[in-house]
Amino acid sequence: MAGTMMHEYIHAYFDWNLYLMKSGATTYDANFEKTYKLLFDESGVPLNDGFGANQHEQIATSFVKEIAAMLKIYAANQNIPLPADPLYFEKIGWGGLQYTSLYKYAPEGTTYANSAEAGNNSTTITQTIKCKKL
Ligand SMILES: [Zn+2]
Repeated sequence: MAGTMMHEYIHAYFDWNLYLMKSGATTYDANFEKTYKLLFDESGVPLNDGFGANQHEQIATSFVKEIAAMLKIYAANQNIPLPADPLYFEKIGWGGLQYTSLYKYAPEGTTYANSAEAGNNSTTITQTIKCKKL
């Protein structure tokens, strides 16, 4: 759940900065285009990413380890015992990225889906915030 929230938050972060750029605002993050190159073509124009494929490639490139690290800290702060699987948090970080080119580098046994994007029958709030997917 926390992993899904992080994933969706990153989409929101991307979308917000792209929105600011497209609307001519200058208040988007200074290094946004330079940092998240996979969201732009070679001339610097934001790619048409209606299905979120480029955002997922960018998340796979830039955020899997960060999501894992954040979850580990979160678990520690909540006094949640560390799971036996040392790659548990990294596997969660790969959630929702199964269609990316980098997914082949996910740890073996990564099966955790991003519940917001799996379109599952969960009755949690994630059911109503499905994000863009392939
Ligand atoms: Zn996503």
